[in-house]
Amino acid sequence: MKTYDRLFIGGDWVAPSSGDVFEVHSPSTGELVGQTPEAKEADIDKAVAAAKLALTEGPWPRMTPAERGAVLAKVSDLIKGSAQELAELISNEMGSPVSWSLMAQVFAPTMTLDYYAGLGSTFAFDTVRDGLLGPVLITKEPVGVVAAITPWNVPLFLGCSKLAPALLSGSTVVYKPAPETPLDANVLAELFAEAGLPAGVLNVVPAGREVGEYLVNHPDVDKVSFTGSTVAGRKIGAACGANLKRCSLELGGKSAAILLDDINLAESLPVIMPNAIMNNGEACISLTRILAPRSRYQEISDAFVETVRNMTVGDALDPATEVGPLVAERQRDRVEGYIKIGQEEGARLAVGGGRPADQSTGWFVEPTVFVDVENSMRIAQEEIFGPVLSIIPYDDEADAVRIANDSEYGLCGGVYGADNDRGLNVARQIRTGTYMVNSSIPIDFSSPFGGYKASGVGREFGEDGLELFLEKKTINLPAGYYPEV
Ligand code: NAD
Repeated sequence: MKTYDRLFIGGDWVAPSSGDVFEVHSPSTGELVGQTPEAKEADIDKAVAAAKLALTEGPWPRMTPAERGAVLAKVSDLIKGSAQELAELISNEMGSPVSWSLMAQVFAPTMTLDYYAGLGSTFAFDTVRDGLLGPVLITKEPVGVVAAITPWNVPLFLGCSKLAPALLSGSTVVYKPAPETPLDANVLAELFAEAGLPAGVLNVVPAGREVGEYLVNHPDVDKVSFTGSTVAGRKIGAACGANLKRCSLELGGKSAAILLDDINLAESLPVIMPNAIMNNGEACISLTRILAPRSRYQEISDAFVETVRNMTVGDALDPATEVGPLVAERQRDRVEGYIKIGQEEGARLAVGGGRPADQSTGWFVEPTVFVDVENSMRIAQEEIFGPVLSIIPYDDEADAVRIANDSEYGLCGGVYGADNDRGLNVARQIRTGTYMVNSSIPIDFSSPFGGYKASGVGREFGEDGLELFLEKKTINLPAGYYPEV
């Protein structure tokens, strides 16, 4: 049991304003695994005030970027030191298979922290150059008080993808994790405190949607960094627009893998599958639409069905598990609802679709493949957020590109075949923020990541991710004055 009775605000664990709590239950067993106070409006006021004070009067924005980077590096080391424990905690919170948790929920955040720690010594925060009329200093300053809001599916990773660049910029943060995954966020607060982060620079307020809205609209929040559903993203974007608040949005996806007609299936299937049913299908970047040439449709469908049939479904804490339970009963209802919709639309259920017979507890859905899917069907257009694949036939390469682009989303995608040049040519035609050519790597932490279309606004990771938390100021200098920077 991981139990908290206080909130991390202003560098201290302080009493919450109400007695309401979030209980966290294992999605595998239903067991109570932890509890934490639920932050309310009064706690948000306190957290924003602490972040503002740390920004205006604290040492953090006045330290050098390299000094701030050293704190990020320390947190990364601390996470590495308790990697297994953290992986199990997150699997207990939201059901991710523990072997995947260790890699993506724990080591990926350390890579992000290490990357931004390094940028503290190499990024040009100040540049002096000749403008058209005389010398100019362009300086990049912290954006201010940041509201970081994340979903439950990759909680520590998404938290660190915002906290690392925001903190490196010199900004201060109010971090609102999702109600399903507040425990790892509290652990992160402990690690930042242990690493010597000054008081008020990071404040953690587990809270629900309405309190999240209150945070977004708080007049002392300068920037909102949001990851979550497109529905919430539209609302948050509108609220930020009304107040001219800086805002970046990482939203949903319905990405397509294009299998070219010269694909070597034995080689490519192991490259595609980890991104097709990833994190129990609860991943924004999942390749949930599999586009197969009609000439090889049967062979490709059979291969996917066979692979998915053989996936090991089980308790999230079992290292052998490949597909664990969904986060909550609500999510299982949603996924089962889509499986029903797919059948009603005329797609053929080739494997899965039910609940695994050997699991007596937990929010399990069998990994599922639909074949004979048309791209216009709801199961091909809407984000299901569960282990459900749709295999869609196409006529020729142009048709594959058209189908891949026929989506309101544009987050990720991939192309697989014998010829890398041909793949790259396809990649250039797809309207999506990240793409893979015969690759299994959907995110490179040193490169921009984000969405076209309804998948978001702005790019996280790489230097772009840092720029999201910087304001640019141009200082015009007198002739002949070139200050050292
Ligand atoms: P959600 O939008 O319901 O909630 C996400 C977070 O936002 C939670 O903390 C929630 O409490 C908060 N929230 C919701 N509405 C809000 C509002 N109006 N104002 C302020 N805060 C609000 O999303 P979810 O169902 O928890 O997460 C799954 C979604 O996240 C999927 O659509 C998935 O694709 C997306 N996602 C995107 C990325 C990416 O990088 N693009 C990564 C992971 C998940």
